[in-house]
Amino acid sequence: MEKNQIYDKFSDVITELQSVITETTEMKQLISTLIEENAELTIENEHLRNQIMTKQSAKMQPRLSRSRENLRKLYESGFHICNASYGRRLDDGESCLECLDIIYGSNS
Ligand SMILES: [Zn+2]
Repeated sequence: MEKNQIYDKFSDVITELQSVITETTEMKQLISTLIEENAELTIENEHLRNQIMTKQSAKMQPRLSRSRENLRKLYESGFHICNASYGRRLDDGESCLECLDIIYGSNS
């Protein structure tokens, strides 16, 4: 290869490298934009998911009357509220159908 040819070859390689650098910089900016968008969408998704969960749980647990709500609190702090065992402590992990019926049942 002659000296001139070597010089031309170098010029070509430099031009190619510059174009690769330009493309890489553009790709970096694009990725940065996509990461930002992704973060925003993740937050928005989380927010919407929470709203759906809140709406669903509101549907599944219709609001209790004040007296039932008090009984529910008492029951959840570990005491029977049913006639048969009123005030007696529930064992660990025990649940009582009569108590639950008083709180959530359709008979008031
Ligand atoms: Zn009970």
